[in-house]
Amino acid sequence: MKDHLDLKAYAKINLGLDVIRKREDGYHEVRMIMQTVNLYDRIEMDRTEDGVIRTETNLPFVPDGEGNLAWRAAKLLLDEKGIKDGVTIKIRKYIPVAAGMAGGSTDAAAVLVGVNRMFDLGFTKKELMERGVKLGADVPYCIMRGTALAEGIGEKLKRLPKVPECYVLVGKPGINVSTKTAYENLNLAGIGKHPDIDGLIRDIEDGDLYAMASKMENVFEPGIIRQYPVIGNIKELMEEKGALKAVMSGSGPTVFGIFDNRDKMAAAARSLRKSGLAKTVFATDIYNRDGGVTNDK
Ligand code: ATP
Repeated sequence: MKDHLDLKAYAKINLGLDVIRKREDGYHEVRMIMQTVNLYDRIEMDRTEDGVIRTETNLPFVPDGEGNLAWRAAKLLLDEKGIKDGVTIKIRKYIPVAAGMAGGSTDAAAVLVGVNRMFDLGFTKKELMERGVKLGADVPYCIMRGTALAEGIGEKLKRLPKVPECYVLVGKPGINVSTKTAYENLNLAGIGKHPDIDGLIRDIEDGDLYAMASKMENVFEPGIIRQYPVIGNIKELMEEKGALKAVMSGSGPTVFGIFDNRDKMAAAARSLRKSGLAKTVFATDIYNRDGGVTNDK
C-alpha cells in the first residue's frame, strides 16, 4: 500500500485516422495509428481514510467529481475490490482539453494504474485495459502507450514498432470542436479515398520517417477545415516552416506537424506563436517508453 503517488498522464496524436463504418449500435468503427507524445498532465494521488474520492484540477471548466473521468476510474476499481479508503486526485492539466489528444482518457488511464498500485489490487495491465474501455474507447490505449494500431471503436490494439526519432509541433487554435460535430460533418458514403493505414503501418515497420509522414492523414480533416479554416492555416504554416507533414489529431481542432530536425521545429514554433493562429503551442517529441508505468516522476 502507498500513501502518495506522482503520476504523468501522456497525450496521444493520431498519425493516421480512418473511419470505416457506422455500426448498428451507433458507434463508429475506426482504424487509427496512435502515438504517445511527450506532453503530459501531472497527477498527484493521496490515500485518505474517509472513503471519499475527490478530484481537483487547475482549470475551472474541467469538471470535478463524477464528471471527471479520473474520478470514475478510481471509483470503478475501488468499488470492484470493496476498498473502504478514499483517494484525493489533484490534476494539473497541460494537455489541451477537448482537443483530440485524449486528455481525459489519459488521466483516467493513469488513475487506473495508480489506484491499482496504491492499494495493491493486483490487476494485470490487460485487466486494467479491459476495465478502462468502460470509461472510454481510448483509455486502453492510454494504458498501453507507444505506437499502436487501434481498431474496433479504438479498443482493439496491436503494438507497432517504434517510429523513427522525430519532433512534434502541436498547435491548438482557440476554438472547440466536439467529437459529435466531427462525426456529423463526416459523410462516410462520400469519402473518395480513405487514409492509407496499411501503408502507414508498412512505413513504420520499415522505419521510414519520410514515407510515413507523407501518408499521415485524418478522415475528419476536410469536413472540419471547411467549418474552421484556421485549422488549415495552421497546417499550411507548419508545412511552410519545414514540417514533413502536418495533420489534425483525433476529431480536432489540434494540429501537429512532424519534423526531422529539432531546430527547424523550434523556428516553426516561434512563427506559429507569432502568427496568432494557435492559442496553445507545444514543441515536443514522441514518447516511446513502453510499459504503462505512470509514476515515473
Ligand atoms: P479524445 O481525443 O479522446 O476525443 P479530447 O481531447 O477530445 O479527447 P478531453 O480533453 O478528454 O477531450 O475532454 C473532453 C471533455 O471531457 C471535456 O470537455 C471535459 O468536460 C471532460 N473531462 C472529464 N474529465 C476530464 C479530464 N480529466 N481532463 C479533461 N477533460 C475531462
